[in-house]
Parts: sequence; C-alpha cells; structure tokens
Amino acid sequence: MKKILIDLAKFREKATNGEYNYGECSYDFHPYNIGMKDIVEQAMLHFTCRRCEDAPCIEVCPADALEKDDEGVISRATNLCIGCQSCVAICPFGTLTNRIITDKKSICDLCDFTDKSKPLKCMETSPEGAVSFTDIEPNDVENIYALNDKILIKEFRWDDLMRNE
Ligand code: SF4
Ligand code: SF4
Repeated sequence: MKKILIDLAKFREKATNGEYNYGECSYDFHPYNIGMKDIVEQAMLHFTCRRCEDAPCIEVCPADALEKDDEGVISRATNLCIGCQSCVAICPFGTLTNRIITDKKSICDLCDFTDKSKPLKCMETSPEGAVSFTDIEPNDVENIYALNDKILIKEFRWDDLMRNE
C-alpha cells in the first residue's frame, strides 16, 4: 500500500533558512488548518526528541500541557497549551520549534489518497521533496520509520546515531 513519506531534514533546512513552510492543507471546512504542522510535531516528538529523563520542557510548562508516555514519548495537550513557548526556549537540543508549538491546533485528517496520480496539496506546497508518496518499507538503513500505518518519517534518530558511534 502506498504511504506518505515525510523528510524532516527538508523541513528543518527551510526553518534554518528562515523560510518556514509547512505546506497548505486541503481540509475544506477550515482553510487555515495546516495538518502538516500536526504531523511534523508528532514526528519530532517521536523521532527527534531525546526523551530527556528529567525533561525540562515538562518541568517548565506553566499549563501542565506536556506529558510522557511509558516509552518516554512526549505529547502536548493543545487544549491546555497557552502557546507561551517556554518549552521551545528551554529544550537543550532544539527539538521544538516556535512555528510548530502554538496554541492553535491543526489536524491532519489523513486525506483519502486513493488517486495517487495527483499530488496532495501538502505535497505541492511543502518544501520540495519533503512530502511524497512512497512504496518504501520502514528500514534503519535509509532512516525511515513508521509514524502510523499511512505515514513514514525519514529522520536521523539521535539514538541510532549514538548506537552507530
Ligand atoms: S508552549 Fe504550551 S506546551 Fe510549551 S511550555 Fe508553553 S504552555 Fe507548555
Ligand atoms: S527538552 Fe527537548 S529533547 Fe528533552 S524531552 Fe523535552 S523536547 Fe525532548
């Protein structure tokens, strides 16, 4: 089954250059929704975050909006988050970015992409090559990991880099 492949390095490259662009969304009922922001946040928290033992982002949050699951993956309750960006400022590894962590919730509804002959709107409007269809299976060699059954993430996971040193 074809999946969507998201290359986090391509988004980061744009952020570093000051050209923030997380793509537009075809969600009809809320034109300002940018679903890709939600996906990139989930991907960063799953694969980029270093899962600090005494996570400073959780400690600093004045709204108790961040929590860790049993595997150490952080999640953000957007109904609690007030968008103060203290977590962005304190993260020692720059995992969180101020364009992603806002008090506005965007949702990707995983468009039904049955017609793979046409690119999705997020593919056309994200940085070139950052979002694409793929037949690739998740694999460590290419640094490709499954976020869910429809989305694969390409990212240099910090724990893999440490293991390979
Ligand atoms: S931006 Fe949201 S999650 Fe981050 S510290 Fe502020 S309230 Fe907490
Ligand atoms: S401080 Fe940064 S790296 Fe550490 S747990 Fe929080 S988001 Fe992850």
